[in-house]
Amino acid sequence: MSMNRRDFVKTTGALAAIGAVGLPNIALGQGKKVVIVGGGTGGGTAAKYIKMADASIDVTLIEPNKEYYTCYMSNEVLSGHRSMDSIRHGYDGLKAHGVNVVHDAAAGIDAEKKVVKTAGGQEFPYDRCIVSPGVSMLYDKIEGYSEEAAQKMPHAWKAGEQTQLLRGQLEAMEDGGVVIISSPPNPFRCPPGPYERASQIAMYLKEAKPKSKVLILDSKQKFSKQALFTQGWEKLYGYGTDNSLIEWQPGPDAAVVSVDADNMSVETGFGDEVKGAVINVIPPQSAGKIAIDAGLADDSGWCPVDKKTFESTIHPGIHVIGDACIATTMPKSGYAANSQGKVAAAAVISLLNGDEPGTPAYVNTCYSIIGKDYGISVAAVYKLSEDGATIAGVEGSGGLTPMDAPEFALAREVEYAYSWYNNIVHDIFG
Ligand SMILES: Cc1cc2nc3c(=O)[nH]c(=O)nc-3n(C[C@H](O)[C@H](O)[C@H](O)COP(=O)(O)OP(=O)(O)OC[C@H]3O[C@@H](n4cnc5c(N)ncnc54)[C@H](O)[C@@H]3O)c2cc1C
Repeated sequence: MSMNRRDFVKTTGALAAIGAVGLPNIALGQGKKVVIVGGGTGGGTAAKYIKMADASIDVTLIEPNKEYYTCYMSNEVLSGHRSMDSIRHGYDGLKAHGVNVVHDAAAGIDAEKKVVKTAGGQEFPYDRCIVSPGVSMLYDKIEGYSEEAAQKMPHAWKAGEQTQLLRGQLEAMEDGGVVIISSPPNPFRCPPGPYERASQIAMYLKEAKPKSKVLILDSKQKFSKQALFTQGWEKLYGYGTDNSLIEWQPGPDAAVVSVDADNMSVETGFGDEVKGAVINVIPPQSAGKIAIDAGLADDSGWCPVDKKTFESTIHPGIHVIGDACIATTMPKSGYAANSQGKVAAAAVISLLNGDEPGTPAYVNTCYSIIGKDYGISVAAVYKLSEDGATIAGVEGSGGLTPMDAPEFALAREVEYAYSWYNNIVHDIFG
């Protein structure tokens, strides 16, 4: 199949939708330099797709870690149903595509001189820069919480050491303990994540420590896929009964406002002190620090972008994708970051060649595994609004698992979730 640049740009949306791989090389951007900050879901995808579409573009990916642990499926590590190894991915695949992977942290981006500077003292000039640094934890929004306190009360909202720490605490906990999950206000990374986590921990407690329970102290009054989660919890964990393995207290009053890590207690908006045997504090979030330091975020703490190209509306020449950007109705999810990585890759190639970027489509599905053979999902295809101001769901394109889905369909959702995982990590890192 032959495909010219215009066709690639035109079909990016469709490619994003089907997660297609194997774009032919078309040497158009000869000598042009793209520097990508952050080798996670968004950055890894953009790097690979630029190289696949035009191998002549010089792509440098700056990422401090030699291994990336996906947050997706990390909740299964907490329940002991998955190993840390299975969520770990290296950079050899991207290197094989010709991406220059530099293991260093970006320390600054000079938007005027078009240079990324690293903590290790290197400088990387660029024609276009793509920034996908994920989120920063706003520790100071919860009194007493800090990076140090997170060693006792892990957030585990960036996978890796924190995931292992929380898993270790759950294993060490005596039966009868209360596991507190403090769930943050919107917007935050992975809206269904805290509730999938509660489900996975409840599954572990049911198997290993049935006198224990999970207490979710929420900042919000409602949450993603709530009716489906609640129904699953009723069926699997006795939700709503005196012996429920999960209790959910809604915000704003139940929100955790301060913590005492030495005392293993939290204080809620009600003013009560609640003790936990294990305390998972997921704090409020903002765009990753480097995006804030580079002046790419507005007062909301997130980065405004042109919805068609993900180019910053503050600093031209820099594109922000993934959790860090404001993508209107698209959630802060891995699948969204992957889709945005492809859209940004196509836009960057067009812009480097002086062409008008094509009109993209975007896609997202979020699976949540509530228990053994019990999965649910929400899916949507998105398009750019007529005026280009928003990314809107295409009517009739997606939806939720039906409330009356039969058992076999719920079991199949788990299989789909695993298949999605294998495909997306191959799409990014393979
Ligand atoms: C528990 C949990 C479960 C989840 N489950 C799902 C799911 O089922 N499905 C789904 O779609 N999404 C899920 N997500 C969300 C998903 O993980 C994120 O939305 C996704 O990783 C966002 O991609 P990103 O590129 O914005 O950030 P990341 O993937 O976090 O990548 C950011 C990268 O930037 C690097 N970086 C940061 N600062 C710098 C710097 N200064 N210089 C260089 N590099 C830097 C980091 O090291 C990191 O590798 C889940 C999240 C959590 C926490």
